[in-house]
Amino acid sequence: ENTACRIAAGEVVERPVSVVKELVENSLDADAGNITVAIAGGGLESITVVDNGYGISQEDAPLAFQRHATSKIKTAGDLYQIGTLGFRGEALPSIAAVSDLLIKTRIRENNEGYCLNIRGGKLIEEGPVGCRIGTMVTVRELFFNTPARLKHLKSKATEIGLVNELLYKMALINPGVGFLLTHNGRQVFQSPGSAKLLETVAAVYGVNVASVMIPLEYEDNEIKIEGYIGKPELSRSSKQQITTAVNGRIVRNLAIHAAIEEGYRGLLTVGRYPVAVLLLKMPPGMLDVNVHPAKMEIKIETEEKVLSIITSTVRKALGEVNL
Ligand code: ADP
Ligand code: MG
Repeated sequence: ENTACRIAAGEVVERPVSVVKELVENSLDADAGNITVAIAGGGLESITVVDNGYGISQEDAPLAFQRHATSKIKTAGDLYQIGTLGFRGEALPSIAAVSDLLIKTRIRENNEGYCLNIRGGKLIEEGPVGCRIGTMVTVRELFFNTPARLKHLKSKATEIGLVNELLYKMALINPGVGFLLTHNGRQVFQSPGSAKLLETVAAVYGVNVASVMIPLEYEDNEIKIEGYIGKPELSRSSKQQITTAVNGRIVRNLAIHAAIEEGYRGLLTVGRYPVAVLLLKMPPGMLDVNVHPAKMEIKIETEEKVLSIITSTVRKALGEVNL
């Protein structure tokens, strides 16, 4: 059973950034307004995520580590109306199967919190603990019992780079949440959490870039787009500067990227990519988010229609400024 757990864990937990993603998504699902991520040693020494969300009750805390225990889906029909990022109940047990995990969590209604330590999937200790409202998860010795995984990891610098990229994308698509990232005690990134997207854009790209970004807006009775796109002269040689989200979920969808670039047709030289942040909203029924366990990929019904709206929205915004 332990082996099965570790194999399953491999699907969700590939490297430090996958742990950060799952923990931060849980914090977002818990309505946190502030999320702090502290990394040590590229994430292999430790990853700590602290949030001020609604926490987990003492009765529910142990249940969160049972496979497929999710508090987020009550009926099969809910799958089509997913408003939360998590829904499989796999992340916590998967991470705890391949690390030494400590969770301290407290709900508003209790004066004290609850604490569990799980190592390699085995419960080591649990009990009441004094802590603030919200949840703190510390993951130490990631992959200590899966040497093959460890071997696949790149340098610490690469791993922290991936975490940094994830966090600034998370910040961009959640401008109302304040993010703080530290590595070995030093601040790497901080977003204001002011709910103003442009202020988060400034935190990520600098005030100089933010001050020349072009706002983007579209709305019909199904689809809503908001965001900022860079003037062509802000273009970069990397596609990483395009951040897209659908219903609050980061998506890496090549067709959406292509649709944005198509809006810039004739304005960018070959091999250059725009800086862009596009937050799309559409009815959950139009989406299938069940494509991949890491949930980066989604399928959109009526994709052609959505893509042409994106292209024309980008083109229109560019056309409205003097380039
Ligand atoms: P999922 O997010 O798919 O439901 P997880 O394994 O990530 O599954 O988490 C299991 C459960 O633990 C969640 O459904 C939620 O009830 C609870 N949980 C996990 N992290 C947090 C958190 N930071 N704040 C509040 N509840 C949490
Ligand atoms: Mg989750």
